[in-house]
Parts: sequence; C-alpha cells; structure tokens
Amino acid sequence: AKQLVVLYASQTGTAQEIAKNIQAEAEQRGIQGRVASMNEFGFDSLTAAHPPVLIYVASSTGDGDAPDNSAKFYATLRRKSQPGGLLAGIAFTGFGLGDSNYTRYQYVPRAIKQRLLDLGAAQFYPVGEADEVDGIEEGVDKWLEGLWPALRKAVQPEGAAEMAGVPPLPRCRVRLVWRESGDGGAAAARPSEAGAPGGAELAYRDPDGQYSLEQPFWAPVLHLELDIAGSGMRYAPGDSVGVLPRNDPALVEALLRRLELDGEAVFDQQTGGGEHLLPHLRAPCSVRAALTGGVDLTGPPRKSLLRLLAEHCGEAGERAALLRLCSRDGRDDYGRQMVAGRPSLLQLLRQFPSCRPPLDALLDALPPLAPRMYSLSCSPLECPDKVQVAFTVVRYSTEQYGQHQGVATTWLHGLCEAIAAGAQPAAAAALRLPIFLRRGGAFGPPDSLETPLIMIGPGTGVTPFRGFLQHRRAQVAAAAAGGCVAGGTSSTKGPAWLYFGCRREDQDYLYREDLEGFQADGTLDRLHVAFSRAQAHKVYVQHLMQQHAAELHDMIARQGARVYLCGDGAGMARDVHACLASILQQQGGL
Ligand SMILES: Cc1cc2nc3c(=O)[nH]c(=O)nc-3n(C[C@H](O)[C@H](O)[C@H](O)COP(=O)(O)OP(=O)(O)OC[C@H]3O[C@@H](n4cnc5c(N)ncnc54)[C@H](O)[C@@H]3O)c2cc1C
Repeated sequence: AKQLVVLYASQTGTAQEIAKNIQAEAEQRGIQGRVASMNEFGFDSLTAAHPPVLIYVASSTGDGDAPDNSAKFYATLRRKSQPGGLLAGIAFTGFGLGDSNYTRYQYVPRAIKQRLLDLGAAQFYPVGEADEVDGIEEGVDKWLEGLWPALRKAVQPEGAAEMAGVPPLPRCRVRLVWRESGDGGAAAARPSEAGAPGGAELAYRDPDGQYSLEQPFWAPVLHLELDIAGSGMRYAPGDSVGVLPRNDPALVEALLRRLELDGEAVFDQQTGGGEHLLPHLRAPCSVRAALTGGVDLTGPPRKSLLRLLAEHCGEAGERAALLRLCSRDGRDDYGRQMVAGRPSLLQLLRQFPSCRPPLDALLDALPPLAPRMYSLSCSPLECPDKVQVAFTVVRYSTEQYGQHQGVATTWLHGLCEAIAAGAQPAAAAALRLPIFLRRGGAFGPPDSLETPLIMIGPGTGVTPFRGFLQHRRAQVAAAAAGGCVAGGTSSTKGPAWLYFGCRREDQDYLYREDLEGFQADGTLDRLHVAFSRAQAHKVYVQHLMQQHAAELHDMIARQGARVYLCGDGAGMARDVHACLASILQQQGGL
C-alpha cells in the first residue's frame, strides 16, 4: 500500500497553501495523506519505510535558493554522494512556483525534479509550473484537473488496476442542502411511512393486551393485533399487511459515531426538476431519521455500495479488497462473504476503518428500507375492526459476521416486549404503527363452500389458514342461520384439511387452541400436524401427506379440491410440490 506525502518548499506561504489544499482534496477523495514542509518531513523519511507517492510544491527564493523550510532537505537531496537507485519505487509529481522576471526562474522546483529522477524515482504525472506573471491560481487549477486520476492509479497497489470487471463508480445523484440549526422541519420528517403506498398510522387500542408470546423456547413467535377501526381499511382472508419498520436505534447511533455525523442535522435534497430523487427520504429530514427509517442498513451489501466504499478508502489495501469484492474476479468472495455473511453497513465500515464515505453518496447508494409483509391470520367476518398477524422474531448468525437480527421483527418484538411480558397493558402502550394492506389475489378461500380445501402451512405459514378457517366458520354459521354472506353460496360444504408442521408439540405449536377449535366445531375436517423433532427421525408435512396419498388424490383429481401452500422453510415449497406431483403420478397412474 502506498502512502501519499505532500511536501512544500515555501517562503511566502503560497506553496504551503497549495500543498495543504492538495492534501485536503485528496482526503476528500478518499486518499489519506500527510502534508509537511520538506524539512519537517526530513529527507531520511523518504527512504525509511515503504516508498511513498510524493507530491511536492516548491518555490525559489533569493537567487535560486531553496526556501528556509526546505533548505536542509534540498541540500541532502542534491548531495553528490547519494547512490543512484536510492529513491527507486517512489512515484512523484510536483508543482513549481516562480516569477519569470527573475533570471533563475523555477530553479529549485526543476532541480528537485531532476534529482528525484536521477535517484530512481518515477514521475507519475507531469510536473507543472506556474508563473507569477500569468497568475499562479489558473496554472494550479489546470494542473490539478489531471492530477486526481493519475494519483488514484499511483496509490493503488499492484494488480488492483487490472482487476477484471470492477463496476464503474456510481454517480451521486443527490445534493444535500443543510438547514441552519433551529430551522425546524426535522420533527416533520418521517421517512418511509409518509411515502408508503396507502400508508396509514393506526392507533393500537386493544384494551386486553392482545400481544402474546406463543412460545418462549425457540425463536419467539408473536401474535399481534392492530386496531383498524375508523381507518377505512377493508380486508379479505389471504390479504397481507405491510409494516414499515425502523432500524435498530443502537445500530443507527453507532453508525452516526463511526461516520462522525450529527444525527440532529437537518437536510433538504436539492430538487433538480422539482422532484425528490430519493423519495423514501422525505425532506426536510434529519440524518438520524434518514438512517432510522429511510435506508436499508442490514441487507446484503450491493456491489455498487462496495464500489462506493472502495472509492472512499484512504488505505490502498482496503480499497483493493473492496474493489475485489465488487469485481467479476471476486464473485466467489462476494457470494461467500457478502451474500452468505450479510454484514451490516456498520460492520463493513469497521472492517475497513480508513473508509469515509460522504453522506449524500451513501444515502444514494443504500437501498430504501423495504416494508415487510405479514399474512393476515383473521377474517373480517369475525374481526371487522382488527388485523391480526403472527411472526417469528428473526435471529441467526453467520460464520463471517456473527449474530444478526431481523429488522422488522426485532423492532416489533421490542415494541411488544413489555406488553408480552405483562409489564405494561397494551392499552397504555398507545403504539402507532405505519401499515398498509396488500390484496392476496388468487390466494383466498374459494367462492363456494362446496369446494374441498387442502391447506398446507408449516410454521408461521399457517397464519393465513387461520383466517380462511375463521371466514369459513362465519360463512357456515350464516348459511345455517339462513342468512346471506358474501363469499358463501352454499350450506353443503366440502371437506377442509389442514397440514401444519412445527418442531415439538409443547414448543412451537402456533395457534393450537384455534386449530383444535376449528376441528372440534366441524369447520376443519382433518387436522394433521407433523412434529419434526418429536422422534429420532424428522417428520415433515410431506411425510404425512404421503400417508394419505389415495385420499388426497381423490380430493384433487375427482372432487376438484383447491390446494394452498404457505411458508418460508428452506426447500419446503419444493419438497411439498414434489410430494404432490408424486402422489398424483402414483395414484393416477400417470
Ligand atoms: C406475502 C408475504 C407474507 C408473509 N407473511 C409472514 C408471516 O405471516 N409471518 C412471518 O413471520 N413472516 C412473513 N413473511 C416474511 C416477512 O415479510 C419478513 O421477511 C420476515 O418477518 C423477516 O423480516 P425482518 O425485517 O425481521 O428480517 P430481515 O432483516 O429482512 O432479515 C431476514 C433475512 O435474513 C436472512 N436470514 C434469515 N434467517 C437466516 C439464516 N438462518 N441464515 C442466513 N440468513 C438468514 C434472509 O435473507 C432473510 O430474508 C411474509 C412475506 C411475504 C412476502
């Protein structure tokens, strides 16, 4: 890894000023470097450690003499006894200041360049010159234009430049305009929820404390009820509810510290054509609000984000490692470390401590924090003013980055914890959650009660079927009472079967009372539960289905049953589908 050193030989302060500006801009561009007068730095330091990338800015004084703060360095550099290859490995460029009214114009800067070349250093970008007579600033600005790409290459370690398939640096599309402190607006900034489709804020008003821990042994599964009375929301079984989550406040605070950002600072986005380029960040927005509710901080890092982070690493080795991760050559590493490891943005920034990305580019590169969907576990016929869901609190660890927790489920768990633990009644909690409804479409109970139902829902996959069965119970009751209920057209009902799966009967049997209740009152004809860990060999829903192959075949092939499958177990859907296909094949002689 090559370090940048910016040295000046300055009599009046002009060369010093230019050198400091170069170092500051380099840092802004993610290249860390040191700036010093030549004497301060010392000639010996040039050869002491790894050969640096050197930029010098020099002027002359008197009759072609070196300025005072560089005289010793200059004399040592010019010593005839210095061995030829002494400065081999050093990449350099420089800029000379002079006044062509003097006879020894550019004498010192040119002498420095010549000596560096004599001693084996390599010029990585042409040395520039400016004449006081024409104006120094103009000359400097022109020279600086070409410096940055050349400097970037010079500080890169060998091989990094040839890495195949490094994506281009994403262009930052936004400009943040900071508000004066006390200018207000931050309190009104509510990223995500205000911009959500059909977003609504709902008061939690249940008096009895309807949050409950279904089972505390394994990953907790929570049942959550939300009061939608007066919201105008109308739902059907099979619909799901979208929740706009919040990132963990501890993560946000740690990120603010790492990026040295003021969480209270409020910004607007510069509006190009009058439109917000990042609509998920409702400006004016505080930095804390943007990081809390606006952007995804924990999803697998995208390659464009890694490319951005690489650009802002001051340490060349870190930059090269990030470039590799987002390159075509580094595809396997990306899969292993980023996709399987799932580091959060904070973990990445800790892994690459020299990385200092600017906030505007970072907000542009991070994906919006997505709403999380939850299947409704109720029916509007039984719960017209509520929506109910059940969710597993996501916790897992990866080999590469340790413990992880799901964004939405951890947030919801935190909100409900005191209520679930009995420390606080739900009514007193006065929680308000931003939610919206999404239609289930074809995933809803059949129009006719006569149509046989086969429902397969292991784990939290059972939740929509609780809703289906509540609906069916209400329809049957209404039909029996001679009433007319939307969705129910017959009082002769077809068979309804449910396959549910969990680990153990006493641990994670979700909605047990409800399911057994549906069976007891005849809403459900058959309830089959696979307890995967109750015996030495694992038993899953498809194993039970195989045992009922002939009946299932009859229901599907002869009676026209509708088959529903819900759940997220790895490979579960594939295995159940294969099981059904084999049943139809065997039994139907296909
Ligand atoms: C239509 C629909 C209905 C849904 N209904 C329900 C429901 O009723 N109940 C329910 O609990 N969920 C349901 N989900 C899933 C739910 O939307 C969320 O994805 C889930 O709750 C996780 O959200 P989170 O923000 O807590 O986790 P996130 O922060 O999004 O993290 C979850 C991600 O972490 C990764 N991950 C999780 N476990 C591991 C592991 N062991 N190893 C490696 N990586 C892992 C996976 O990539 C996973 O996508 C539904 C999803 C959809 C689309």
